[in-house]
Amino acid sequence: MIPHMGPFRGLLQTSLLGPMSGVPTTIPFYPRKPNVNPTRRRLLIALAGAATAGLSASWASRMKTYAGSVSDHFDGTHFFDPDGASPKKLAEVLRWQFGGGRERHKWPEWVPSPYSDTPPARVEGSKVRFSFVGHASWLIQTGGLNVLVDPVWSERASPFSFAGPKRHNDPGIAFDALPKIDVVLVSHGHYDHLDVATLSNLAAKFSPRVITPLGNDTVMRAADSAIRAEAFDWQDRVDLGNGIAVTLVPTRHWSARGLFDRNKTLWASFVLETPAGKIYIVCDSGYGTGVHFRRVREMHGPLRAAILPIGAYEPRWFMKDQHMNPEDAVKALADCGAEIALAHHHGTFQLTDEAIDAPATALGIALDQAGVPRDRFLALKPGQVMEI
Ligand SMILES: [Zn+2]
Ligand SMILES: [Zn+2]
Repeated sequence: MIPHMGPFRGLLQTSLLGPMSGVPTTIPFYPRKPNVNPTRRRLLIALAGAATAGLSASWASRMKTYAGSVSDHFDGTHFFDPDGASPKKLAEVLRWQFGGGRERHKWPEWVPSPYSDTPPARVEGSKVRFSFVGHASWLIQTGGLNVLVDPVWSERASPFSFAGPKRHNDPGIAFDALPKIDVVLVSHGHYDHLDVATLSNLAAKFSPRVITPLGNDTVMRAADSAIRAEAFDWQDRVDLGNGIAVTLVPTRHWSARGLFDRNKTLWASFVLETPAGKIYIVCDSGYGTGVHFRRVREMHGPLRAAILPIGAYEPRWFMKDQHMNPEDAVKALADCGAEIALAHHHGTFQLTDEAIDAPATALGIALDQAGVPRDRFLALKPGQVMEI
């Protein structure tokens, strides 16, 4: 049943409920634009940006996503983080988007990366190869296993094909250049992390296992029943074969894809056990008191490497509960104790107000101020590779 959505109703029918109600085997990355009047379009662009940045304004159906038993972070309907913060309210979204004094840096239309990666079929043994696809997407190859993290190959990170944050550079690996993908890790439901078009295309081509926190499996299968989604709770450890395993760990964030599904699916970060040591993959996270990072060190340390988000942080009054800035990320590195870190969540989709190069610049300054060598925490560009 389609909920009453006021002025959005027609749009939902054409752009959102349409694709969700079918069972396509392959979803095109670049769907055609429907007709939308300019005023409605402007509001939708603002709200789509807000939804993708991890805010409370969004859309979608009343679909039940998770019906498990109550726990210390699930009240029977909603997930919550005892050490986290509630998502922002719609009034605060509107104050950010339309309130006075906003300083939104306009990103250049197209900022191509000088790099492009063609990965090998496999990486055997104790080497780990990290290939940065862009934003929060990575290909990690180790122990003969190929793992994708939060894969987004779509043109927009948005519920809409015609509005919302658009790419400012191509994925660092062409989709057709991907090696056989064995496992996909999807951290949470926000559109810049859970992209059903990409998951559907991966399912059609490679049929990988998709490991995701509770409830997101329902979202994926509703879009395409071929997506082999398996949902797990915080602290569940999943054996991936070849001596590799992943544990889902709490992260200071939240979730929503629709007006009625806020925190009805779980969010997580990952600790990946590899032959080279443990890799802590933090997908979206505020800093808070740093307790999440220190707990991972206590429970899972020592960590060989960490992938930490450094972008989508301005304005701070709005973003800091859910997204770290580079200064926070340097503190998070100290807290988790990883030997080295790689930065992500910047430079491809403009979700927030800072300039395109601000996170990488601020990371260098924050490292200098903390006395941490710059080569211990690198910000790669899409298509760039690092091996350990
Ligand atoms: Zn998010
Ligand atoms: Zn994100």
